[in-house]
Amino acid sequence: MSLEKSVQLHCPICRGTLVNKATSFTSYCKSCDYWHGNLTVAIDSTDDESVDAIDDQSYITALDGLRAKNFQIILDELARQTEGVKLSILDVGCASGSFMSLARARGHKVTGVEPNKKLCTFARKRGLHVIGDYFPPADPFPSKFDVIIFNDVFEHIPDINSILESCKANLKDDGLLILNLPNSDGLIFRIARVLTAFKVLGPWNRLWQVMFKTPHLHYFNHRSLNKLSQKHGFKPVTGKIEIPTIEVGGFWSRLQLDRSVTGLIKNIIFYMGVLVLYPVIRLSEKDTFFVIYRGDDIR
Ligand SMILES: [Zn+2]
Repeated sequence: MSLEKSVQLHCPICRGTLVNKATSFTSYCKSCDYWHGNLTVAIDSTDDESVDAIDDQSYITALDGLRAKNFQIILDELARQTEGVKLSILDVGCASGSFMSLARARGHKVTGVEPNKKLCTFARKRGLHVIGDYFPPADPFPSKFDVIIFNDVFEHIPDINSILESCKANLKDDGLLILNLPNSDGLIFRIARVLTAFKVLGPWNRLWQVMFKTPHLHYFNHRSLNKLSQKHGFKPVTGKIEIPTIEVGGFWSRLQLDRSVTGLIKNIIFYMGVLVLYPVIRLSEKDTFFVIYRGDDIR
């Protein structure tokens, strides 16, 4: 496996200079309201020797319930935008194929791309068509897609500008791009950022997933995501659609994935904090959102 540190000096949206902010590994563009994480990415994660202390299978189970609910929200919105037509959909970084399964159940023709071997195998066992590669894959796709979707994937990709160009190249003329990702206007991001001023770094590090081999490299809000997408000719056809990331039950099993004793104590404290803040969280801006874009201006 090769490791690559994503150090970006310039804003990927406006090319302005990024300014170091909040912690040593995070930088910010004021004019775009965009955050960047200078973190190390495991470029080749196709080996089965996981450097994470996390078992993929338990991770999948912990997240699946809530994700399924959120994926149905996305599929409902997609059906509204396309008047229920059956579509060819490419799921970039499809993981275990949860979104693909739900899309297939609605009659869509789905293709996945997933570089992680274990997840790829898991998805194929569900009878899904998954290409074991990064996007764009080495072998070109036989045809263009109606829809390309990134579910919690876009924020992990070092060169997002070239990825959007690849989306253009692989979408039909009136094709749709769906970006579903974490929200820097979400309450948890805001709280975590305030806490860094008091040297409380746990929640901030967790948001950026600094302990994972594929951490978050970007944090967008609705405005900065639109600015980036429009630069590549993608017009938003929906507003920002917020989706919940926290359900207290599922959240506990998610936190328990860190099994060390200090991890457990930290988790209990964090969990109690979340419980106290839960009513506020429910009333605030959600921590994940998606936007559907149309690429009708792209050629
Ligand atoms: Zn900028």
